[in-house]
Amino acid sequence: MPYLDYVAGAPVDERVVEAMLPYFKHPGNPSSVHSKGFEARNAIEDARTKVASLINADSSEIVFTSGATESNNLAIIGYAMRNKNRGKHIVVSAIEHISIINAAKFLMKNGFEVDYAPVDGHGKVKLNELESIIRDDTILVSVQHANPEIGTIQNIEEIRDVVDCALHVDATASLGKIEVDVQKLGADLVTLSSNDIYGPRGVGALYIRKGVRVNPLILGGGQERGLRGGTESVAGIVGFGKAAEIAEKEWRDEAERLRVLRDRLAEGLLRIEDTFLNGHPEDRLPNNVSVRFSYIEGESILLSMDMEGIQASTGSACTSKTLQPSHVLMAIGLKHEEAHGSVVFSLGRWSSEEDVSYVLEKLPGIVERLRMMSPLYMK
Ligand code: PMP
Repeated sequence: MPYLDYVAGAPVDERVVEAMLPYFKHPGNPSSVHSKGFEARNAIEDARTKVASLINADSSEIVFTSGATESNNLAIIGYAMRNKNRGKHIVVSAIEHISIINAAKFLMKNGFEVDYAPVDGHGKVKLNELESIIRDDTILVSVQHANPEIGTIQNIEEIRDVVDCALHVDATASLGKIEVDVQKLGADLVTLSSNDIYGPRGVGALYIRKGVRVNPLILGGGQERGLRGGTESVAGIVGFGKAAEIAEKEWRDEAERLRVLRDRLAEGLLRIEDTFLNGHPEDRLPNNVSVRFSYIEGESILLSMDMEGIQASTGSACTSKTLQPSHVLMAIGLKHEEAHGSVVFSLGRWSSEEDVSYVLEKLPGIVERLRMMSPLYMK
């Protein structure tokens, strides 16, 4: 049965589970000064090397966290707090993940000014407008690498050229799907997530370029170079490392395979009348198909699909509790009813041709049935 909600949650790769298993039973605390502690420390440092290698960084530039949300908080709040003597203005794109938007709002309540960089109808940051928003006292700009909801990939190198302060890039959705090379991107801070590359949940990392200073948010015993207190989740970090090692070897072939499935799925869905693609038609993640079906509600489509064994999402799983139309879809200029009729199909490592065929067989009937019941649909 097709699980096409990889963006909300992905299974952990069996090879990752294998690598983690010994560390669930391992007693060593990485800070302990004895052989069990050294073993745990070595396992963490080995994982750090693997995560660093995937993004072309030095291992000393990787700080492990509890996930992308914490990494984003550390990047935005930690950087702003540490560097506030240089300015109190930050800029984030209008389609950032809610963990960035809310971190920015927190800063606003604490004496900072925040501006949102607008995006065009395809979700690309408008470079001219970004340039005009940046001020002399802007200390940080945050723009995601790719959007998990509409799939649009930003041209970070072009953005880097107009940003003359620190640049944070949330690479949660792009890692393992397209190239994430921190040297090419020119980013100072980069958010990484384990589960998005088939590692365990509850682990992530922040890349902090050498020389860039941030304040810790979690105060404790000085772990992670004093940037993240608390005893490390050794098994989780080992799993993230293994997932990064696999991703580095396999991501190109995997992306190619998914691109073919993605295109077949998109073409098939767009054959349904009054159905439109969200996001950029070319510069999009190889695993993302975001479409809107006119006249019907995303939630009813999700429930109908689930009854047929198909799982997808209406947008960010993290914001679906609010019932507000997605801020991403509003930022690309959709009307409320268009945003509400949107569905994201996200493919992953175990998606197959059969999954796509099954969805394309079921969806036209589901959409037609729901439209027949919709007061908006007059034929
Ligand atoms: N950034 C982006 C782009 C995301 O899609 C997500 C959600 N997967 C996050 C940050 C937050 O991730 P998490 O909920 O795992 O902390």
